Amino acid sequence: MDCVKRKAYAKINLGLDVLKRRPDGYHEVKMIMQTVDIWDMLTFKKCGEPDIFLSVDNREVPAGRDNLIYKTAKMLRQEYGIREGVEIHLEKHIPIAAGMAGGSTDAAAVFYGMNDLFGLSMTLMDMQKLGVKIGADVPYCLMGGTALSEGIGERLTSLPPAPECVLAVAKPEINVSTGFVYENLHLDQLAQHPDIDGMAEAIRHGNLLGIAQRLGNVLETVTVPRYPVIGEIKRIMCQAGAENALMSGSGPTVFGIFLEREAAKEAVEKIRKAGLAGQVFVTGFFGERAGR
Ligand code: ATP
Repeated sequence: MDCVKRKAYAKINLGLDVLKRRPDGYHEVKMIMQTVDIWDMLTFKKCGEPDIFLSVDNREVPAGRDNLIYKTAKMLRQEYGIREGVEIHLEKHIPIAAGMAGGSTDAAAVFYGMNDLFGLSMTLMDMQKLGVKIGADVPYCLMGGTALSEGIGERLTSLPPAPECVLAVAKPEINVSTGFVYENLHLDQLAQHPDIDGMAEAIRHGNLLGIAQRLGNVLETVTVPRYPVIGEIKRIMCQAGAENALMSGSGPTVFGIFLEREAAKEAVEKIRKAGLAGQVFVTGFFGERAGR
């Protein structure tokens, strides 16, 4: 096999709670992760020169050693003593720095792509063990689907696939620094925490409205007052018929859960026309586990 293609799926957080700040600076979280049908395409080819050659079709993404794709490929070449070189091309569709784990899911795709290309016989656990060194979200991205994520994001419990729905996704053209969001999160002042256990139960029961009712992300307490466009997009989605809407991760992407595709389309068109978001999608959950 000299050429392998692999899709890297984005995620949203149906729930995101922060429990505490650890002495080492990491935050202990409790999140519900959900893969969505928005993806990057990665192409892997063996090459004669013993090196890593990365090309990216988007100038906003670093194409050098800072890219998580490069870091992952380098780690795998070292760990498995791979002598041959690899050419990797990234076709980027997932919004960048958006709270959708774009870089982490690309890294996960490198594990699968190089596993196939070089016949490495890695198990999911092998990949997750190495993946956490690349980023806290990588073990989840390797697994995909619907999951409860705890610890710093590395303790994962698989949940049954969430029931089908239509998702409107909108990424406003603002840059939100994850560092800024966590530094300004005042855990002692939070009036309420999202009901993550209730959300997991609603998922186990296939109860979409129960899921929609429990959408919650404590990081919105920082981002919504600072970036009113996030609240505005949520409002438009709900006015257009969303069961509920939420910011994903540390933002700024917002998603809305809809029962009707037409209503979701209407919502994203309104948001786009009002100039509130540059990238919009009408999509859905992606239920399959990664690696299949
Ligand atoms: P998360 O949800 O995990 O916080 P994110 O969606 O906020 O991730 P990314 O899209 O992963 O953020 O990008 C964050 C930064 O990482 C980018 O600004 C970019 O400089 C860098 N980066 C490194 N590798 C990649 C990659 N493969 N794709 C996108 N960005 C990458």
